[in-house]
Amino acid sequence: MIDFRSDTVTHPSPEMRAFMANARVGDDVFGDDPTVNALEMRVAKLLGLESAMLVPSGTQSNLIALLTHCGRGDEYIVGQDYHTYKYEAGGAASLGSIQPQPLAVSGDGTLDLDMVKKTIKPNDFHFAKTRLLALENTHSGKIISNDYLNQASRLARDNGLYFHLDGARVFNAAVAQNISVKEITSQFDSVSVCCSKGLGAPIGSLLCGSESFINTARRWRKMVGGGMRQAGILAAAIDFALSHNIERLKDDHDNARYLAELLSTVPSIRVESPHTNMLYIELENAEVGAELQQALATRGILISSGRRVRLVTHLDIDMAAIERFVAEVKTIL
Ligand SMILES: *Cc1c(COP(=O)(O)O)cnc(C)c1O
Repeated sequence: MIDFRSDTVTHPSPEMRAFMANARVGDDVFGDDPTVNALEMRVAKLLGLESAMLVPSGTQSNLIALLTHCGRGDEYIVGQDYHTYKYEAGGAASLGSIQPQPLAVSGDGTLDLDMVKKTIKPNDFHFAKTRLLALENTHSGKIISNDYLNQASRLARDNGLYFHLDGARVFNAAVAQNISVKEITSQFDSVSVCCSKGLGAPIGSLLCGSESFINTARRWRKMVGGGMRQAGILAAAIDFALSHNIERLKDDHDNARYLAELLSTVPSIRVESPHTNMLYIELENAEVGAELQQALATRGILISSGRRVRLVTHLDIDMAAIERFVAEVKTIL
């Protein structure tokens, strides 16, 4: 199987599995798991923040960040198409009584900062209290520049807002810009990173922030059911991923560009240029997309359906897989 649907589909390598099997473990709800404790320290340092906490998923990580920063009746500003707002089942509103203030996302993946400023509510009892600005990097594979992040950070600070980053794929952003990840993350009050995407671990995200933020976040994690026991088995997979799979994200980015190059020779496909490991292509219409998906599936290749299709490169896709995919696409179309 060649699977272009997402970078979440990777399987842990035999080396990663062996590393997991040999992990020293303890009860992490008691704070006793040495592998989890070491991982949390490692990730906090990597991101330039004081503390980190292992959680089962990125969705839970973002939810806990919002629950920790915002109270009932507070508001957070977020992109209409950001994961935190659109793809997390409305958790902040439903479980936290936190009102989202979604804004349109610009073509480059950012929010218009003048618009953000206008949206911050005055201190008046008619309004919810605007508490937080949530950004995403990368967004749909697009890198958000540090220039923009610095401006957004200043805006948040000048207006007394907490500043949260959904950094599910922030390592892709760092590698693509050839900078350390902390140059992106250290200015945020909280950052969520996913390890089950391009990094190739099977499960797990980390929420990072100040020590007092993480201390409060641990109670919310317990409440939403994210306290895990011998979680060192998962932490070991992430530890392995951090040691072996960060620098190689460059291969995924190179492969996405290679895929774009090859597909641009197919006349009926419009190819957008990829920033990182995601390539978007446009087909004539959604029916062509559905037919292409079905025909590829019978040849052992998985893609999403639609008129605009996202193709994602990852650990389990190499140049040969890309060449085979493009040859099959040409035959089918
Ligand atoms: C995947 C993802 C998340 C979290 O997803 P989980 O599947 O819950 O781990 C959050 N934000 C973005 C941008 C993502 O792509």
